[in-house]
Amino acid sequence: MFNSLRSRLWLTYALIVLMVVAVVMFALIITLRESPLLYRQAINELEITTELWARRLEPLADLQSDRFLLAFSDETGDTTIQAAIVDKEGSFLTSTIPDNDSVLRNMTTQIDLQNSMTTETDQFQDTQGNDWFYRVRALDDTYILLTAVAKPIFSFSTIVKDEFMGPVMQASLIVIVFAFFISLIISNWIALPLKQMSQSAKALSEGDLIEIPLKGPREVRRLANTFNLMSKKITASSRSQREFIANVSHEFKTPLTSIQGFAQAILDGTVKSKKEVDKAASVILIETNRLHRLMMDLLMLVRLEAGTANMQQEEISIRDLLGNMMDKFSLQAEQQGVTLSMGQISNGIVLGDGDRLAQVFSNLIDNALKYTGVNGKVEISAKIEENSILICVKDSGIGISKSEREKIFERFYQIDASRKYGKKKGFGLGLSIAREIIQSHHGTIWVESSPDEGSAFYVKLPITMNKN
Ligand code: ADP
Repeated sequence: MFNSLRSRLWLTYALIVLMVVAVVMFALIITLRESPLLYRQAINELEITTELWARRLEPLADLQSDRFLLAFSDETGDTTIQAAIVDKEGSFLTSTIPDNDSVLRNMTTQIDLQNSMTTETDQFQDTQGNDWFYRVRALDDTYILLTAVAKPIFSFSTIVKDEFMGPVMQASLIVIVFAFFISLIISNWIALPLKQMSQSAKALSEGDLIEIPLKGPREVRRLANTFNLMSKKITASSRSQREFIANVSHEFKTPLTSIQGFAQAILDGTVKSKKEVDKAASVILIETNRLHRLMMDLLMLVRLEAGTANMQQEEISIRDLLGNMMDKFSLQAEQQGVTLSMGQISNGIVLGDGDRLAQVFSNLIDNALKYTGVNGKVEISAKIEENSILICVKDSGIGISKSEREKIFERFYQIDASRKYGKKKGFGLGLSIAREIIQSHHGTIWVESSPDEGSAFYVKLPITMNKN
């Protein structure tokens, strides 16, 4: 029944209202029971009646005792107030109900009549434990008028029934109706963004991105914001997954078509001579190698991204690592007519995987040589900066425009597929693999470049030791 946010809110408000009403009512009843408010009426009646009788009896006090007492009986007629005449010595002379005046007689013996005359209405408890209000009033030098009325008893249920039930019920009803409208407004305020979130989630599952407006209370706004971020990430990730699959298929298609074509030609005898067969076989070998390289790169990238690349943790001297790079690439540089040199090399020890780091610098130097023309220069340097080492591979090649600088680190991104590639045609995966490797070493990689002036690739890695 109370499944919706609105009904639950309403129920909460109604319960709170009823609880508050109950507590207030209870407190009021307790206060009223203890307060003289409800007794004032009885006291008033006692005071007025006593004064009235006293005024009428005072002129008669001079009469003979028998006649005065008779006059007293006449004056004090049918009333809830009991009265008695007592003389100055405290002797009980008569009362309004002579057959049942034990309480008044008791009172006469127990209270100090002389002193009570000056006081206000007082209280007396009879032998049965009942409370009485009484007054003592002197009529003349002989007679004293004693009046008493039973203290009214207000039971809990009487007060609730007579005083509270009606107004409290009405007030509660009004407040509960109000609570209904307030819960309606508040539930809309909370539930509307949640409804939009569920619509957006549904749209997301169908591939659409709907941004939720940041409305409602702070927690709901925060949830909506997180939801928007998550939606964007999911959309970006599924887009990049689609692109990735499209790129991989594209990269596989060309070599596979080539291999298929040449294999078919050998089979159906289109290529016959040994020279032609050798040529077809060598194309098949080149394309298979290319596919193998692509497979290895993809595997590496996937493992790096998934964090399952099994990185070694060994101490690597950057100077030794870059020295090895020089040895590896000096011949290639010479063949290309490019001057490969070492600039200032500070030595730092990096904790990480030597083979993976070597792969990064191989890729950077290989690219630098690839994109630098004859008579160009490639320089490798390294310097310590606080707790890091900054390695730079700088070339005087074709450079990279500003708009391309970030994109080249994306998977399969190649600036211009028709540019000069050197011997090996790349896949646009080298720099994304390099970035993953550097990031898994808690480092950063970036490029600074101007078209036609050259590029400088920087790698910053944290060092465990400064070996200078
Ligand atoms: P590829 O295998 O195509 O070289 P990379 O990820 O290593 O892939 O590089 C991505 C793109 O960045 C390259 O296609 C190239 O256009 C550009 N690039 C990389 N290094 C350089 C450089 N030193 N100078 C100019 N362009 C470069």
